[in-house]
Amino acid sequence: MQIEAENTSDAQLLIGVRKGERRALAKAITLVESTLPEHAERAQKLIAEIVATANSSVGANDTPLKTESLRIGISGVPGVGKSTFIEALGLYLIAAGHKVAVLAVDPSSSLTGGSILGDKTRMEQLSLTDAAFIRPSPSSGALGGVTDHTREAILLCEAAGYDIIIVETVGVGQSEIAVAAMTDMFVLMQLPNAGDDLQAIKKGIMELADVVVFNKADIDLIAAQRAVAQMRLALSMLRPTSKFWTPQVMSLSALKQDGLAEFWQQVSDFRLKMQASGEFAAKRQHQALAWMNQQIDSALRQQFRQHPAVASALPAISADVENGSMTPTVAAGQLLALAKKDFEESKQRKNHA
Ligand code: GDP
Repeated sequence: MQIEAENTSDAQLLIGVRKGERRALAKAITLVESTLPEHAERAQKLIAEIVATANSSVGANDTPLKTESLRIGISGVPGVGKSTFIEALGLYLIAAGHKVAVLAVDPSSSLTGGSILGDKTRMEQLSLTDAAFIRPSPSSGALGGVTDHTREAILLCEAAGYDIIIVETVGVGQSEIAVAAMTDMFVLMQLPNAGDDLQAIKKGIMELADVVVFNKADIDLIAAQRAVAQMRLALSMLRPTSKFWTPQVMSLSALKQDGLAEFWQQVSDFRLKMQASGEFAAKRQHQALAWMNQQIDSALRQQFRQHPAVASALPAISADVENGSMTPTVAAGQLLALAKKDFEESKQRKNHA
């Protein structure tokens, strides 16, 4: 799919993204986050162009695409030290020649209108570095919508040459599952003594973790070591995320930048093992298919609700379900039948035309 010649600003945007210009990248992400229908169409064209190029050769005037990206999900409760850690890790990786993008999935922004991740000035040093790109969390939309945009933002960052993509989220359950479904590796950050291990196990988050990091080990090293041992035991009782990887547990201090090299060694080991086994690529394929199916589900649901016949019958039928005069199954059947009838009538009209 080509971006039409008349839409030169989008063509320029694409060139800017491919050259790794941070302004162009930020603008492109704003376009994919937009809820305006006309923006959605332009955004899809932009993404389609980027994906097509990622799978073929790159034009002579563009920076070569780094297809060897690594997408890392990092989660933890507010205050655990995520931004301190990501800033320290980002600077460490940039010093080693990487380009680092940080994206946030912040469920609080859609649930409460406020933001846990976006409001304060975070990662100040990293944000001043040319080789880093930091995107605060999207400000509106349901979690599903926000994560769709984050998936697309990942693709845009990769097209702009960022080879390490960190997707950050806070610990509320639903957002971790969404982030794990769009990254190659999932890191859970915890505090020694916080007792949130049990919470994480209850919410099914622990099963997602490829690496568990206990931060703030500088405060109480003994407590950190104890937490690591307990977590290893807990994890040994869970099903591992992959048969090629045993989830690792470690402690570090983001503030003192102590343990970053050891952490990165774990990440590199993980990547090597997953790539050697073929699971790295298989996971991305699986994630892409799951994303497609999710998009189909949500588009169908939206189309269904927008059906004129459904839209007008929905309030009364919903009230009947609420007051118990109609069962949910019968109600769903009636609404689906209305949509089907409408669809068949419009098909017949098209055939006669
Ligand atoms: P976030 O909400 O998860 O992003 O957490 P922050 O990175 O904002 O950190 C919360 C507080 O913990 C800040 O005051 C940090 O300076 C502090 N902090 C972060 N990492 C460490 C650490 O390794 N050791 C200590 N002692 N404090 C830390």
